[in-house]
Order: sequence, then C-alpha cells, then structure tokens
Amino acid sequence: MAIQKTAKIWHNGKLINWDEATLHVMSHVVHYGSSVFEGIRCYELPTGPAIFRATEHMQRLLDSAKVYRMDLPFTRDEMVRAMVETVGRNGAWPCYIRPVVFRGYGDAGVNPLNCPIEVYIVNYPWGKYLSSDGDGVDVCVSSWTRLAPNTLPAMAKAGANYMNSQLIKMEALANGYVEGIALDKNGFVSEGSGENIFLVHRDKLITAPLGNSVLPGITRDSVLQIARDLNIPIIEQMIPREMLYIADEAFFTGTAAEVTPIRSVDKIKVGKATMGPVTKALQKEFYAIVHGEKSDRHGWLTPVPVGSKVSSKQPVGV
Ligand code: PMP
Repeated sequence: MAIQKTAKIWHNGKLINWDEATLHVMSHVVHYGSSVFEGIRCYELPTGPAIFRATEHMQRLLDSAKVYRMDLPFTRDEMVRAMVETVGRNGAWPCYIRPVVFRGYGDAGVNPLNCPIEVYIVNYPWGKYLSSDGDGVDVCVSSWTRLAPNTLPAMAKAGANYMNSQLIKMEALANGYVEGIALDKNGFVSEGSGENIFLVHRDKLITAPLGNSVLPGITRDSVLQIARDLNIPIIEQMIPREMLYIADEAFFTGTAAEVTPIRSVDKIKVGKATMGPVTKALQKEFYAIVHGEKSDRHGWLTPVPVGSKVSSKQPVGV
C-alpha cells in the first residue's frame, strides 16, 4: 500500500517537513543494513487517539539499539513524548508510527562507529495488514529458515532481519499464500515474516519461546496477558512443525496483523477452517481494549492530545 504523506517528521529532536526527511546514498544504513526500528499503532477511541503500548515499543527500540552498540541521545520517555508530539501535530489517526534509528553519513566501510546516529519518528494513516475474510488467512511453511541463534539477533528489531522476512514473504506470495511461517534452525516453529504465531491445541494456548528465534512481540505479550485475564491456560514451548497441522486453532499476532486467524497451513485446514472460540475470545477482548470499548485495565494506551483531524484523501487499508 502506498504511503500517505503527513506534514511533519521528527528528526533528532525537532519536527521537519516530510519532504525534507531524506538521506545521502552513502549513508551507512543503505549499504550495511544498520538500522533498528519500531512499528506502533495509534488507535481511534471515542475519547480521541491513543498509542498502543508506547513505552514498551520505545523500550524495545532502545534494547535493539543497545545490541548494536548504538547510543541514542534520547531516553525512552523522551522518545515516547516525541512520538506523542508527532502524532498530535500531524493530526492523522488511526495511524501507524515508525520510529527508526540508523547509522548515517560519515565513514565508508563496515565499521559503523564513526557514522552519526540518526533518529526519526514518522507516522501515517494505516489500516489492516493481512487481508482475511474473517475465517482466516491461508499460509505456508517457508522453505527459508528464520535467523539462526548467534547470527543476526532475533530479539533486536533490526532492518537487516527483514531481508530474511522478505524472502519468506515473497516466496509465500509467489506460491499464492498470504504469509509464510518460518521454522528455526532446528526445524521448530519460529514465526511469520512479521508476526508471532499462536496455536490452540487441546484447549491450551501455545506459543514459541523467545529461544526459537522470535521477536518479543508486544502484541504477543498483550495476548498472553489477555489469556491470563480470561483464564486460558498458556504453554510457551517449542512447537514441532506438525503441530501446525493438527492444531485446533492458529493465529498470528503483530502490530500490523493484530490478531489474525489462520485458516490453513500448506493447504491443510486448521481445525474447522473458521475462527475458533479461543481466537475469537482473545481477538474480541484485544479489539475491545484498543478501541476503548473496555477499560484500559493494564494501562496500555497513551492518549494523544490533538487539535483537528486532517482528512485522508485515500482509503486506508490493504
Ligand atoms: N515478529 C516479527 C518478525 C515482526 O516483524 C513483528 C512485527 N513487529 C512481530 C513478530 C510482532 O511484533 P509486535 O507485536 O511487537 O508488532
């Protein structure tokens, strides 16, 4: 989906015009993938716009940067405030927010340490990511393996990781699927190209632990919390591939995917090939919280003080 421009982008502490947020082709990031980033949703509630788990996302950004020895000149809370300021100023919501930190223009060569750290926060209107008719999406197991331990760190949300995600996604699309599920180095279920995965098997909610090369998803964490609230038993365990085929239910979680049911894997129906009761209950509760229909009992929403809304010219959605 084409990006819809907003007025301002936050750069290193100040708001600049959208069209001025450019970089030199010799910036380190262009050649060596040296970026870390976040993807965050700002929802539209009856009380106004609110950013979902703003602090947790900015903490993960700082964690990703730390892994790559990037010193950010801003604290987590300053980054949260900058994000609120950007969304408020642009007046476009619901929206997707993309903070990104990268190594800019300085030295050539692999050593990144003499290249400046650039920090940007961008937001733009955005809708659904994985299109599904309600029953769920048809997916495959990818022939590509997820990042192996001690190669590219899966807990860091780094731009470079998404070369692997692109291989998974493109292969899935080329074969007529909506998404691919990657196995880890040992053949256990890892995650989708941009989503964590959950299964329901014999009334238990199962997801892979972080040791299986998965990103510590903020939505994953939220769904685990909601499952605890609803007294749904949870197991974090290594998932053999065949469990995808015999699960009663399966779904993806992610900022973009939210809670998206999976209807089939490798053309094998998951359960009854419709959204199952556990997925339905978790999805319903998730949407009720993020849309402000239920109280924000875990303090997940940061309100954005805004003036007036800028109407979008294009329809939002994939
Ligand atoms: N795994 C990968 C590879 C992702 O790109 C994402 C999306 N950020 C997720 C999982 C889900 O993470 P979150 O719920 O924090 O968006």
